[in-house]
Amino acid sequence: MKPKIMFSSRVFGNDVQVILDYAVTEGYDGVEWYLNSFRLRTSKKHREQFFEKLDQYPGLYYTFHLPTVDVELAHREPIISGASLGYLQLYIEYLAPWFLKQDVPPVLTLHVGSNSISVEELDWEVALTNLKQLGDFAAQRNGVVLLENLKVGWTTDPKTHLQMADHAGLGITFDTGHAASNPLVRSGELHLVDYADALSQKIRHVHFYAYESLDQGRHMPPETWMDVAEIWSKVVALPDAQSVVLELSTEEELAKTFDLLMDNKDKWQGR
Ligand SMILES: [Zn+2]
Repeated sequence: MKPKIMFSSRVFGNDVQVILDYAVTEGYDGVEWYLNSFRLRTSKKHREQFFEKLDQYPGLYYTFHLPTVDVELAHREPIISGASLGYLQLYIEYLAPWFLKQDVPPVLTLHVGSNSISVEELDWEVALTNLKQLGDFAAQRNGVVLLENLKVGWTTDPKTHLQMADHAGLGITFDTGHAASNPLVRSGELHLVDYADALSQKIRHVHFYAYESLDQGRHMPPETWMDVAEIWSKVVALPDAQSVVLELSTEEELAKTFDLLMDNKDKWQGR
């Protein structure tokens, strides 16, 4: 399967028309709506306007990144984990009318352990229970929840990451930048492409950039083709990855990354 190549709406904030025009003009296959900065509105009229815009571009493919900044469904404090589960369900409920009309169930990426929260603040059993609940809730609305690997916490170890995904029946979003900044990869214990192999059976979606900076958590673009040749060639050849989002934060970095990949198309296309 040749994955669709997309970008994150985070580059352009909230302007749906600007985001969709950019996708068409620059030749992307679709957009990932980054629901931290791009918020949905409760009023039905506003949500319907958004869905109508999406439907005006039948050639584009859409994925969704659930909010991460102020939610943690694995938190050991019941008020936090409970409200987080409800809040994430709310977002899925907002999208449900559009999801139910799609032939291919749309994907939603989820974090457990965002913003380098300490594992001490989390509860493993709560994580498993709430992941299962959220996954089932989305499935009833034709959505597929994918659990992303981060650079700190349970999802940094492929074994614990798979345990969580298996328990809840979730697929995986493989984030190449978080993977490159993973302590096991930085220490040389785990090679980046072996990491992708370890999760490959469950990977349905990919976030792509070079690495996440350790101090500020910035998504860094590759400087040269050789920086990412091996991992890019790997992710575009994963058996079940439907889509790859270039998850950069500025238009300049996005364009630079896209051009780098397209300039080297002959080296990875046809794989
Ligand atoms: Zn990501």
